Amino acid sequence: MTSSARLLIVGPQGSGKGTQGVLVAEGFGIPVVSTGDIFRANIKEGTELGQQVTAILDAGDLVPDELTSAIVRDRLTHEDAAHGFLLDGYPRNTAQVAQLDEFLTGRGEALDAVILLDVPREESLERLRLRAIEQGRSDDTDEAIAKRLDIYEQETAPIISVYAERGIVDRIDGVGSLDEITERIAAALAVRGLAQRV
Ligand code: AMP
Repeated sequence: MTSSARLLIVGPQGSGKGTQGVLVAEGFGIPVVSTGDIFRANIKEGTELGQQVTAILDAGDLVPDELTSAIVRDRLTHEDAAHGFLLDGYPRNTAQVAQLDEFLTGRGEALDAVILLDVPREESLERLRLRAIEQGRSDDTDEAIAKRLDIYEQETAPIISVYAERGIVDRIDGVGSLDEITERIAAALAVRGLAQRV
């Protein structure tokens, strides 16, 4: 049994992966590395990176792969990620999977598990519309939401098959109460010998 883990959480926008990712990471005592959060923080602070990506995020498009991978590589070399991390929102296409593989292999590491939160498109759309009203995220317009879900289906869903071939995907039913879903994830990870500290 170990409390360190190298995890990825994947699911369509609106699947609740952000919320569940934070809970899982807390349980393991590992940092969440969310590319969306990194970009939004840079936009808020008005950094050069922020200025570079504002229009891309607002349109619901993807930031270029190399730029995104470089940011993740930098983040993963911080001390707090030495014994594990939970990736949220990265990799998002097969090119990014290859870039992450290269980096992790170079460190003698690999992902332990990929948590796939399964939520039907209609349910994701509904949750995103609600979030738009509650939080007013600038990329939660109807058009940008639809584009992000399209990109998910076309570019992100294929990465699941890549990881499934490695036998590391845990498909979790993402419809249910917050606690139910957290328990489903913990149970699936425990089967892999990945036990949380708390
Ligand atoms: P998220 O919070 O994961 O929904 O990400 C918000 C936005 O950040 C996305 O719509 C993209 O514009 C950008 N983004 C986040 N992660 C990535 C990634 N891995 N590759 C490219 N763009 C990304």
